[in-house]
Amino acid sequence: MVKSKYSHPIDDLLRLDRVPYTWCPGCGIGIILHHTLRAIKELESEGKINRDKILFVTGIGCTGRAAGLVKLDAAHVLHGRAIPFAVGAMLANPSLIPIVFSGDGDIAGIGGNHLLHAARRNMDILVIMVNNFTYALTGGQLAPTTPYKVYSTTTPYGNPEPPIDTAKALMALDVNYIARWSVTHLTKIKDSVKYALTKRGFRFIEVISVCPEIFGRHIGIRDPYQLYVTLRKIAKTRIKPSFGDIKYDWNSEITCGVFVDRDDPGYFDRLKEIGVTKK
Ligand code: SF4
Repeated sequence: MVKSKYSHPIDDLLRLDRVPYTWCPGCGIGIILHHTLRAIKELESEGKINRDKILFVTGIGCTGRAAGLVKLDAAHVLHGRAIPFAVGAMLANPSLIPIVFSGDGDIAGIGGNHLLHAARRNMDILVIMVNNFTYALTGGQLAPTTPYKVYSTTTPYGNPEPPIDTAKALMALDVNYIARWSVTHLTKIKDSVKYALTKRGFRFIEVISVCPEIFGRHIGIRDPYQLYVTLRKIAKTRIKPSFGDIKYDWNSEITCGVFVDRDDPGYFDRLKEIGVTKK
């Protein structure tokens, strides 16, 4: 453990005995985790959340390592299974506040089927998907989110597949909240997580991250600063964009903003409605 004479406002939400963490220098995941924890901290100080009720669930991947770093009840589960684990825990104990925090390979790739059906049910969980465009932890294989034509270790001639725009795909389902930001939108990440945590139903926040070690190397931008500057130009925030306006294209624009914000009954509301649980 690295001892420091300095303290930080979210120190009490982190397992400082795990410092230094294993994320590469310049990686965006720590920034996204930081602003997620800041959101929890602010809600707690406003008396709107009890950290003891939070269940922080991650799958496998670089982002998945976050479960071992937070001082919250946390689970680091099988690849692609963070969502069903969170759903199962909540069905057993509806007083929990599940937060799934995992990468694009885990959520949209291996766990894509779980994502689809949790969204279809408007299940009462918050999913934060950190998108670094690749399976980074395992060496840079093609992910469903990898941009068209980009090199990966499993597509050495470039990706021949169009990627999935996960946030846009979920708009076809009646979920209560969908937003996308980039790791360059610090306050937006925090405010969005904070707002989503006060809502019911299925809430999905995608954050485009930077991975200088793998994705950066694949596109020829190893310098973290240059990668942030490049992402800053591509990630364009739009107010209430229409479905047709939303783009997911590394070469032109990745649209950010709030895509869906409604307050339909969540899964637990429906259980009450049909008499499975008490109103
Ligand atoms: S490989 Fe990429 S995503 Fe993983 S820790 Fe390193 S920079 Fe971050």
